[in-house]
Amino acid sequence: MKTNLACRTVLIVLFGLYQGLDAGWASAQESSILQAQSHRSKQTVDLIVKGDHIVTMDAAGSLFTDAVVVVDEGLIIAIGPASEMLTSFQSDEVLEGNNRIVMPGLINGHSHAAMTLLRGIAEDMALLEWLTQYIFPAELEFVDSKFVRIGTELACWEMIRGGTTTFVDMYYFPDTIAEVVESCGLRALISATVIERPSPGAANAADSIDIGNAFIKRWKGKNSRITPVFGPHASYTLNVEQLIAVREAAKEAGVGITIHMSESRYEVDYAKEHYGKSSIELFDSIGLLDLPVIGAHVVWPTNTEIPILAKRKVGVIHNPTSNMKTAAGISPVTRMLEAGIHVGLGTDGAASNNDLDMWEEMRLAAFLQKVDRMNPEVMPANTVLTMATRGGAGAIGLGDTIGSLEVGKRADIIQVSFDDVHFIPTYDVRAHLVYVADEQDVSSVVVDGKVLMKDKEVLTIDTDRVSREATVLARRIHFEMQSR
Ligand SMILES: [Zn+2]
Repeated sequence: MKTNLACRTVLIVLFGLYQGLDAGWASAQESSILQAQSHRSKQTVDLIVKGDHIVTMDAAGSLFTDAVVVVDEGLIIAIGPASEMLTSFQSDEVLEGNNRIVMPGLINGHSHAAMTLLRGIAEDMALLEWLTQYIFPAELEFVDSKFVRIGTELACWEMIRGGTTTFVDMYYFPDTIAEVVESCGLRALISATVIERPSPGAANAADSIDIGNAFIKRWKGKNSRITPVFGPHASYTLNVEQLIAVREAAKEAGVGITIHMSESRYEVDYAKEHYGKSSIELFDSIGLLDLPVIGAHVVWPTNTEIPILAKRKVGVIHNPTSNMKTAAGISPVTRMLEAGIHVGLGTDGAASNNDLDMWEEMRLAAFLQKVDRMNPEVMPANTVLTMATRGGAGAIGLGDTIGSLEVGKRADIIQVSFDDVHFIPTYDVRAHLVYVADEQDVSSVVVDGKVLMKDKEVLTIDTDRVSREATVLARRIHFEMQSR
């Protein structure tokens, strides 16, 4: 915390010297006293974020107009009307708030960030065919540490641009992912994919568990923005012994896991055929759900499985775009929310989406439930906005740290500009954020108190270099795939 002691002392000495001089100095003396008093009463902080509206997303649904969020040492230390706050706090760094909505950063609960480089590589087919015929072979051929570095940088650029401040990642070369996240300033839970088949950098599941273990050893506790976890891929790409080995490794390392869960009919049928139970029942029967678990997709949970998810406190991540694109099905999100399950939103990888736009996920999550239930009242805007922020934070185990603008939480904050024509008029700010806003409207992004984007300029990534490197690499991948 900085102090303005020196400034205060100089002013006090100055107006002390004025005393005893002739009456012509009176007004200067008075203004100096006023200045000294106002400086004396103000605390200098690291950052002040202003907004015409502040949507806190706290449990009480608090909203402020013409207000500020005060940030110091990475924490939110005060929120309130500008007229009150600015008499108490000052900062050299201020994000101005004219035509700005201030809200918590969005939480992308399931992604494979580096797959931005495979965006559009194979389209319009079923999940299993897409994975086994195109994605897994392309990854084996092209994915190395350099690919992951460039692909993750591209993803982080896109996510910062769109107002995502935290993401949960499952991919290969996790140290490289963590290095990119460390450098660009985002917050992330990062896992090495554990999978039975040969994958980039690993010959089998045992190899990928070793990679995960080594990664967790290096990164656990190293950077408060980076949480290493295990990433067992799914119940149809790992057998029971391998799932148990991951459970033991995660328990030993004291970390959670993120796993694809009940994503497709294929997965459900496979589990029934091979284990005589569904994948969620299988995970529960082997104690996997005793760990902190983030289950991605959860499209096909039965009425008996939803209580299991609630009881085991599994965080569920709904990925509406990916589920629609691969025709995986419609997740019973409203039923899971009713059961008290923390449900967040995710984009999945850019190869099955094909972007990392959380605003689109919010909209589609709302529309998909409404049309599925034939009821426009289900999944109202505020529920969806909660899933993208506070609910998502709860689902990934960071509910006490991020997800809402509250004193004591880490300062993960975005400003949304409502300069665009589609904000005229704006009657209900929260509904407008869900049904109208998109990623191009995000103007500034703060993570852990640090400004990552200001007035739409990304400050922590060399976007020209990333654009160049990604284009060259994608051209090579395209050429090699076409010349087969
Ligand atoms: Zn996925």
